[in-house]
Amino acid sequence: MQSPRASLRHVTRWPVWAIPPRLLLSVLVVELLAIGLVTADALSLVPVTWTDAQAGLLLCGAAVLHVEAVLGVERIRRGSQESHHVDLNSVWTFAGALLLPPVLASAAVVVIYAYLFARVQRPTGIPAYKQVYSAATVVIAVHAAGVVLLLTAPGQLYGTVGGTFALLLALLAYTVVNTCLVLGVVAMASPNVRILRVLGSGDEVILEIATLSLGALVAAALTTTTPLAVLLVIPPILVLHRTILVKKLQERADTDAKTGLLNSAAWHSQSRSALRAAERSETTAGVLVLDLDHFKIVNDRHGHLAGDEVLRVVANTLREEVRDHDLVGRFGGEEFVVLLSRLADTDQTPEDAAVEVGRIGDRIRRRVRELRVSSSAVDGSDATIEGVTVSVGGAVFPSDGHSLTTLVATADAALYAAKRAGRDTVRVGPDLARSRDESPGGDPLAG
Ligand code: GH3
Ligand code: MG
Ligand code: MG
Repeated sequence: MQSPRASLRHVTRWPVWAIPPRLLLSVLVVELLAIGLVTADALSLVPVTWTDAQAGLLLCGAAVLHVEAVLGVERIRRGSQESHHVDLNSVWTFAGALLLPPVLASAAVVVIYAYLFARVQRPTGIPAYKQVYSAATVVIAVHAAGVVLLLTAPGQLYGTVGGTFALLLALLAYTVVNTCLVLGVVAMASPNVRILRVLGSGDEVILEIATLSLGALVAAALTTTTPLAVLLVIPPILVLHRTILVKKLQERADTDAKTGLLNSAAWHSQSRSALRAAERSETTAGVLVLDLDHFKIVNDRHGHLAGDEVLRVVANTLREEVRDHDLVGRFGGEEFVVLLSRLADTDQTPEDAAVEVGRIGDRIRRRVRELRVSSSAVDGSDATIEGVTVSVGGAVFPSDGHSLTTLVATADAALYAAKRAGRDTVRVGPDLARSRDESPGGDPLAG
């Protein structure tokens, strides 16, 4: 048994206290709302029949089987950086929302999420407060679906056209409420992250709809005389998990571990496709090659770990400064590449395209120059690294070449011209008379 003082010390060390106060407040409001809803359900004394209880138990049992069957896949998935996580357990929680009285549907959510935490989150080191929040958002989504059903299908859910319509509306309410609550905290936690990127590709939306549709089939099976048929849903769910895993592993193979940008191989392959698309649609595109100036000095002064932090901050800056469909990669070391696609249609003159590429390169150059990187996150000191600069070389498609190899070689030559011109400078194209020297240059770290 822990003494009260030791328990208090334990509570004060919970990771939840590390989240910013505004975010903490929002999380608490959502959790209190969920608790309020469950309390109201319990006090409303809606009778729970033995059939309901059996259905609830069957849903929890099937969810436990499901969790056990996909333990390995889910531990890999939860351990990876993924802000918006489509939760395949909504098969069971949505079925509960459709079929069970709210108090029982909420109890099933609590049981399923507690089991998931014990088997998946805890072993992968994910703090409990995140799972508590997820469970709260699902409880609220379950109630949103319940309200929609109450308003639209007071009678039969299955076997009538009106019932099917109500079911679709409930599915929509469940997914919209749950997604908004999850994305809301992600947006507050990382204001720089673009919400559409967090939401992921259309694939994630389809996955969510596929999961909830299976949930509707589970609820239908539970209303038949052979409710054990719900177990037939487990094999399709396993196939869905496998699809997600393949996608996850593909993303991991394409990503530079230090910065989260595309690695060199993935950047090349995706950029080739983007250039082919530009050729087909007759649009111009640009390639930027960027190299941090005198980066060795940053490492020598502040250490390699602080240098790594600078690389991460520069990578984030690059992503912020270009559009979502542009491709940002790390070539290796302190060298980055960007493919700017869909600059304009081919009515744009080569000169205009070069000016546009130079303008984007220069915007990045200025942003990097303004960066202040705190090294406290890596070495505990409160030193701030500033004055980091970048030299940028650019090339334009199609005027500087049609192949990616030629464009990168041209941009690379322009980068070396920028270095020779004193660094902290942008150069575009093979014709250096066309390039603009945007800055005074010089050694920004000197002195
Ligand atoms: P220049 O302006 O000519 O580009 O000078 P530079 O010092 O940036 O160039 P150089 O090629 O001489 O050195 C690159 C440095 O980048 C050397 C290496 O220590 C550092 N570097 C390369 N990869 C990493 C990395 O992953 N992390 C850290 N911290 N430093 C790296
Ligand atoms: Mg360098
Ligand atoms: Mg270099």
